[in-house]
Order: sequence, then C-alpha cells, then structure tokens
Amino acid sequence: MTAPLLEVRHLRVEFPTRRGTLVALDDITFDIAPGEVLGVVGESGAGKSLTGAAIIGLLEPPGRIAAGEIRLEGQRIDNLPYERLRSIRGRKIGAIFQDPLTSLNPLYTIGRQLIETIQTHLPVSHEEARQRAVRLLQETGIQAAEARLDQYPHQFSGGMRQRVVIALALAAEPKLIVADEPTTALDVSIQAQIIALLKRLCKEHGAAVMLVTHDMGVIAETCDRVAVMYAGRVAEIGPVQQVIHAPAHPYTVGLMGSIPVMDEDRERLLQIDGSMPRLNAIPPGCAFHPRCPRAFERCHQERPNLLDAGATRAACWLHAADQQRRVA
Ligand code: SF4
Repeated sequence: MTAPLLEVRHLRVEFPTRRGTLVALDDITFDIAPGEVLGVVGESGAGKSLTGAAIIGLLEPPGRIAAGEIRLEGQRIDNLPYERLRSIRGRKIGAIFQDPLTSLNPLYTIGRQLIETIQTHLPVSHEEARQRAVRLLQETGIQAAEARLDQYPHQFSGGMRQRVVIALALAAEPKLIVADEPTTALDVSIQAQIIALLKRLCKEHGAAVMLVTHDMGVIAETCDRVAVMYAGRVAEIGPVQQVIHAPAHPYTVGLMGSIPVMDEDRERLLQIDGSMPRLNAIPPGCAFHPRCPRAFERCHQERPNLLDAGATRAACWLHAADQQRRVA
C-alpha cells in the first residue's frame, strides 16, 4: 500500500472566547493518498473550510490547533514555526480560494507574481522562471500568455483570474492542492470548465487535491473519495460512488436526497429538517440527532465515532456491531 501523502489525526481546532472555548473541529481524522482527489462536503458551518485552513496553516487567530496532528509525507507540519510552514505552503502545498483576488496582489503584474513564486521555491534563473510561468499560463488555457504576463489582475476576468491562481498554486510543483470553493464566486457557465481544468492539471502535475465544496455535483464528477462533514466532525467518509449511491449516515442520505437528478423520476426532493447547530449549542450525543429521522435512545447520550459501514465509514450508531445484531 502507498504511504499517505497527507495524514490528519484527531485534529481539534478551538476558538477561545470570553464566554468559554468553542470547539470548531473535533477529532477529525483522514488521509489523502498521492495524486488522490478528496472532496470535503457539508453545509456552511460544518467546518470544511476550517479543516483546509488548518492544513495550510492559515487559521485565523484566535483559532488554534488544540490537539491532534497533521503530517505531510510523514513530516509533522502542524507545529512548525511560521516561516518554516510558509515555505512548505508554497513549495509542497498550493492553495486556491473562492475569491481569486485573495491570492493575487493587485499591485503586481501576473508575471511578477508567478516568477517570484517560482524563484522562491525552485532553484531556477529569472529567464527559466519566466519560461515556466508562460508554460503554466498556457496550460491553464490563457491565450497570448507571454503578453499577458505583463498585465495586472484587474485586467483579467473572474474566470481568467482563477486560471492564473491555479497556475500560481502549481508553480512550485506542490504535492497537494487545497482548493476551497474554487468556483463559488464565478459565473455558473464557467464553473465546470474551471473544475475540469483543476482536475486535469493536478493529475498532469501529479498533485493530490483536497477539494472543499458544498456542491455534491462537483464532488461526484471530480473526486475519488469524499468526506461528509457535520458540526465540526466527519460524519461519513468513503469512495465517492459508494457515498453517493449507498450512503450509510442519515445525514448523507438527506444530502443525497436533496440533489436533483436529471434522469430519475423523483417526485419530490428530500429536505433535511432543521439546521446545523451553532458551535456554542452542539447537542450532546450524536450532533445530528435533533434532525435525524432514525435517532434512537443511544443517539441522545453517546457520541459515535467513525464505524465500518460497508464500503464507507460512518459516525452513526446504526452501524455499531450490537445495533446490527439487533436488526438482524
Ligand atoms: Fe441518527 Fe443516531 Fe446515527 Fe446520529 S447516531 S445519525 S442520531 S441514527
């Protein structure tokens, strides 16, 4: 078996406040294999973007990693000094955010930003870096790449800017790209193109991807595996086809039922009643129990960890061995 590229183990992120400590991520554990595309999905507030931010070392203070560890190629990266982590962030982990302007400096030309990133992380001359920048822009489908190197971010459309950000994220040949809602801010007509481009380029460059999105359609078309998050925890994780077609966690069942399917004669879309709890009001036991149509007594008192549930793993008591025996 190949060693995982990224290992996240029992990650806990807290926000100290005047009224006590809020636990935003609790006991998050997953791996990403080299070259794999892992989707992270959930409603807003589930903790998916926060998980990405913790991995790339960009947690907003006062947020802090309070427990657990994150390893990249076996090396622990959650406890590194800021400068060391910054260098890993550019060299081994590329980041793509929802708004391309977060990643681009409006005062510098695209060429300067690409060339500086390449030269910061790779031992190449200015001319070699420039050639590499041109190639990267060409790969992302930007026409007249050489001439566009001298333009500023405001001279690009939103979709073109996100292509530049993809080029920038891949500039130092990273092992992992963390893409957080990379198309949400873009026009619907170009979202699919950008996702397809991201997937193709990461594959060609041998980079694994952690794709954070609320869009199950994007997950279905892009990912190898998917982690479904709920209230700061992983509710279910497994191969994408199994999670979509045979979800094991009642929350995932609800998420899947709320997606329109073109070639299915589904009379009504399902709806998950209620809403995600606030961080300061996470219910005891299974956090999903107030909304769960299958909740039973144990769910109100004990919190389930991820359990084997056929082809996936689900944090749900329905998959506990004693519960399974009772049903059988
Ligand atoms: Fe529903 Fe209970 Fe499973 Fe939680 S543990 S998802 S409440 S059945």
